[in-house]
Amino acid sequence: MKQSFAFSRLGLALPPVEPGWVWLVGAGPGDPGLLTVLAAHALAEADVVVHDALIDGRVLGLAREEAVLIPAGKRGGRPSHSQPDISARLVDLARAGKRVVRLKGGDPFVFGRGAEEARTLVAAGVPFRIVPGVTAGVGGLAYAGIPATTRDTNATVTFVTGHAATGEVPDTFDWEALARLPVLVFYMALKTLDVIAARLMEHGRSGETPVAFVSDATTAAQRVHITTLAQAVTERDRLGIAPPALVVLGDVVPLARDLAWWSPPKQGCGGEVWPDPMQSIPGSATPLIGD
Ligand code: SAH
Repeated sequence: MKQSFAFSRLGLALPPVEPGWVWLVGAGPGDPGLLTVLAAHALAEADVVVHDALIDGRVLGLAREEAVLIPAGKRGGRPSHSQPDISARLVDLARAGKRVVRLKGGDPFVFGRGAEEARTLVAAGVPFRIVPGVTAGVGGLAYAGIPATTRDTNATVTFVTGHAATGEVPDTFDWEALARLPVLVFYMALKTLDVIAARLMEHGRSGETPVAFVSDATTAAQRVHITTLAQAVTERDRLGIAPPALVVLGDVVPLARDLAWWSPPKQGCGGEVWPDPMQSIPGSATPLIGD
């Protein structure tokens, strides 16, 4: 097994993936280095890996050569497999005595439908384990140089989904409350940004509030664009920002001008970096708010 050498010193800390079990595993936001040790261990032990569309090939490469890889989940925002189909497949594979890893982007329990899959497993009497992953809203912000919190700016940080199961902005939102929260991290919000930005401003959030788009976070294609709430929709269209992307709002955003650090290594070129993330951040020489 590929991983047994690397992780042997952790010994009993790594439970075996038992036949007939399903592990719901978070793969993190993109960079393979953000996998947890448990996730790498699970991949090395699995008979079957049922994986989301956007998982890095190098991560899937941790599976054994004999392991069966089954793509599932969404492609380009469109579901290629229905959620009940995926859950039923997991149950069937477990009942057939396979060691099943269900590998999902980010964290399985953060906007990831992991709960739906876990409930189906419970209902079917299939034993399971959850392996948390680095969620995009944490890992992506870190790679963008946007602190999720600082003592000067915010005592709370709020993860928000831009659309409900219907594809629309969730109708349960308390816009007045959202507009008052210091830092909002939106997932899946590119399409519905028009409504989100308009509602936040209608409910008193300043159009000058800093907003960042962080797309393809933690990958070589990562881009960070900083704008304002009033300009966000225009900038989304002008720049053609595509998923996966986070929309981050609040006074932590301008800190990226100082803290952006991620320069993905150019393939095969030790040390040389491209792209320079600062190129994507206008006004990187401007002072921080409050300076
Ligand atoms: N369970 C995942 C989220 C799944 S929802 C997690 O915990 O991260 C999919 C949304 O996550 C995307 O629309 C995007 O908003 C965000 N996302 C996932 N990976 C991302 C990445 N590499 N860069 C930016 N946003 C990402």
